[in-house]
Amino acid sequence: MLACNACDNFIESFPMITKELLDILACPLCKTDVRLEGGRIVCITCGRRYPIRDEIPVMLIDEAELPEEPEKTHG
Ligand SMILES: [Zn+2]
Repeated sequence: MLACNACDNFIESFPMITKELLDILACPLCKTDVRLEGGRIVCITCGRRYPIRDEIPVMLIDEAELPEEPEKTHG
């Protein structure tokens, strides 16, 4: 269905997580975009990691893992 050459390696072991799905998903806290990383949905802003259960992203703040090391874009 999706045949995007640019994101050929985008979907690895999570074929149910499509770019279209990521486009409509957003961090419930930041309301910003998320990306697929290491089998989890990661908020690009706060870095919270949302699990994927039964092929469905769980976009709940309570279920999210906080980033181990807060990234500071200073310097
Ligand atoms: Zn966030």
